[in-house]
Amino acid sequence: MKFELLAPAGDLEKLKVAVLYGADAVFIGGERFSLRSRASNFTLKDIEEGCLFAHRHHAKVHVTCNIVMHEVDIEGIEDYLKALERAGVDAIIASSLAILKLVKEKTKMEAHASTQLSVLNSGAMEFFESFHIDRVVLGREVSLEELRMISSKTSLDLEVFIHGGMCTSYSGRCMMSNYMTYRDANRGGCAHSCRWKYFLFDEEKHPLGSTYLSMSSKDLSVMSVLPQLLKLKIASFKIEGRMKSLHYIACVVFAYRKMIDEYVRTKKIEDFSVYEKMLAKAENRETSTGFLKEGVTLSEQLTNLDEQTPLKNFVGIILDYDTATQRVTLEQRNYFSLGQKLEIFSPRGIFPIKITALFDEEGNEVKEARHAQQKLYFDSEIPLCAYDILRLDDSANF
Ligand code: SF4
Repeated sequence: MKFELLAPAGDLEKLKVAVLYGADAVFIGGERFSLRSRASNFTLKDIEEGCLFAHRHHAKVHVTCNIVMHEVDIEGIEDYLKALERAGVDAIIASSLAILKLVKEKTKMEAHASTQLSVLNSGAMEFFESFHIDRVVLGREVSLEELRMISSKTSLDLEVFIHGGMCTSYSGRCMMSNYMTYRDANRGGCAHSCRWKYFLFDEEKHPLGSTYLSMSSKDLSVMSVLPQLLKLKIASFKIEGRMKSLHYIACVVFAYRKMIDEYVRTKKIEDFSVYEKMLAKAENRETSTGFLKEGVTLSEQLTNLDEQTPLKNFVGIILDYDTATQRVTLEQRNYFSLGQKLEIFSPRGIFPIKITALFDEEGNEVKEARHAQQKLYFDSEIPLCAYDILRLDDSANF
């Protein structure tokens, strides 16, 4: 069975990175009818360019149209779906039955039932099968045992979350963000209010306990149970995170691509620590196997925000490599200096690089890259490619 690795993309650059680092498909949000309305959503022109790029690399593009539809949202949806079809989109992910019905009746795109529908049983799968839906994205709350039972009873394509953020509530069925910020989580505006710090006080305003209340969920990472998932009839393995950075997407896609390929080749994963190290470079939020573990408790699911600091190891992205002059054009993404140990992270692998001299656009030699998105130049005998990533080599920390 061919397993699809499905990656998130918040913009065109991330779409290209996801495809180049090993995704078989990407999911993106258009400007309308999508959750993650703040995740730099794609215009129709971007979608067309993204589809051309993805198809050239034998990858597919799924577009989310998964807001909770109100009557006013129906206006224009059919025209929008047809425009997406003309742009080359392969599938629509929707939670509204109205949208799923339109996709099937008015277009040739695949209709995927969104995780917002919280499908967690084979009865619901039967319903979607009778409705000729092409794929169901299961709720993140499914256990491994339930997954086994559902996958053995259905002929429908199943899509399962394998990595990324979790919701403290059933995915998106939450009003916390609406109450705290007037931003509607079900209409693309979640402010992640569950991840804020809350302190408890009694009626006299005395603090209750010395620590804050955490409702922040650990991220999902199925790495330790991936071989078990790969034995099931699952069509697509989904990484969450359209709001995540380009480096995060590259790391997570690359690690899971390698793991899946190793399993397909050898029917086992020899050394999980190799992939743990790859994923650790993406982000340092705590992870767990989430609800896949039978009977997981809420406290096992929550995490302490104080232990998490953003990583700054992604220091630049290669824009261009001139093979004649061996000159590399780099865009700065985080501070680095020439004294630091650096490495190239690319779709071809990870290898150390020594930069002996670095120049700005005026040709002045610089010792430190201090300015966000500044264009810088250096020479490399090792050929590099656009979208290769320059990052700090912190391997000594592992
Ligand atoms: S606030 Fe938290 S629990 Fe609520 S929808 Fe957003 S991520 Fe989920």
